[in-house]
Amino acid sequence: MDINFKNKKALVRVDFNVPLNSKTFKITDDTRIRAALPTLKKILKDGGAAVVMSHLGRPLKKTKDDGSIDVEKFTLNHVVKHVAKLLKTKVHFCSETVGKAAEKMAKQLPMGEVLIIENTRFHKGEKKGDEAFAKQLAKLGDVFINDAFGTAHRAHASTTTVAKFFKKGEKSFGYLMQAEIKNANKVLNNPDRPLTAIIGGAKVSDKMLLLEKLIDFADNVIVGGGMAYTFMKAQGGNIGNSLVEDDRLKLANKLIIKAKKRGVKLLLPKDSVIADNFSNDANIETKYSKRIRKGWMGLDIGEKAVADFSKVIKNSKTILWNGPMGVFEMSNFANGTKSIATAVAAATKKGAFSLVGGGDSVAAVTQMKLNDDVSYVSTGGGAMLEFLEGKELPAIAAMS
Ligand code: AMP
Repeated sequence: MDINFKNKKALVRVDFNVPLNSKTFKITDDTRIRAALPTLKKILKDGGAAVVMSHLGRPLKKTKDDGSIDVEKFTLNHVVKHVAKLLKTKVHFCSETVGKAAEKMAKQLPMGEVLIIENTRFHKGEKKGDEAFAKQLAKLGDVFINDAFGTAHRAHASTTTVAKFFKKGEKSFGYLMQAEIKNANKVLNNPDRPLTAIIGGAKVSDKMLLLEKLIDFADNVIVGGGMAYTFMKAQGGNIGNSLVEDDRLKLANKLIIKAKKRGVKLLLPKDSVIADNFSNDANIETKYSKRIRKGWMGLDIGEKAVADFSKVIKNSKTILWNGPMGVFEMSNFANGTKSIATAVAAATKKGAFSLVGGGDSVAAVTQMKLNDDVSYVSTGGGAMLEFLEGKELPAIAAMS
């Protein structure tokens, strides 16, 4: 951020879409707020003021019975006190997002203080990327800073369209956004090799593009989680009741062939922890992933798979991890994900660069308190996925 914010009002798009307790509306995880602090602190320290905007939840999807917005549930006022506490400064709140009241409060905002405006998604124009709405938002700041990586893949008014109304030199990415882009590029551009990608999670279809792309440039691609069983079935294995996408069997085989042709090692879990029920109380056994009997399902990778995967991970110089190896939310099926997290941390200690990107693998690393033992933990699930797939993110493109 080259801008000196002295005497400037910075309109800052952050991602304060934090989880809240459904009854008390207390913040249950403030990671996203903390991630935006360095940028906000820089603005205030320079002698500027910050007009902060964000979305929170899906207020227009979950309206009340009469069609009105459930303001009590979705108001951004829920974060105000906490932000004030973290920044140790006065944080004002405007119950309007745009319009006369918001403009007046932004104008009167003293330097060194913060104004949070109401949830941008209270307006239909937000998700449509509406120009008129974005223009109204733009009136609230002299400069525009985008630090909301988590929504950078959305061409919304407050993330993308608003940038149009600021000239070059009047707009910039915040520190979080810069870090996310820099770290993703470390994996994409000239990574130290071997480069190993660990892809897990529920569905092949969600990560199809990423898998294709990875086979183009990674040295090893490890596939775990529910998506592995589509590969197992495609190879003629018996997978019982495991998660499968029958319309992706051909694709799975295509990926296996492509990997072979390119000399990329595609690793699938040799064995699995299988269960007779989708429950933590189910009976469990460890079996070959291609020999799961009727009525049983693979819910985690087995010991052999953990050993295979860990060996490759520990010999890697660059590691990308997206998606859990099993149903880690249940303790009996968390071992695979935990072991992989430990292997990634061990490789990092040996000097590898490791990027953990994507909601559930981030949750696993956080659960194990390994955040400081990997090189970078991304805050953006969908946005990171699209960035790694090689797509141009609209909010990033809008800045140039
Ligand atoms: P994703 O959002 O695609 O990264 O998927 C994460 C979800 O996949 C988590 O909620 C996991 O519980 C789930 N998952 C991982 N492995 C399995 C599996 N073997 N069977 C069913 N669900 C799984």
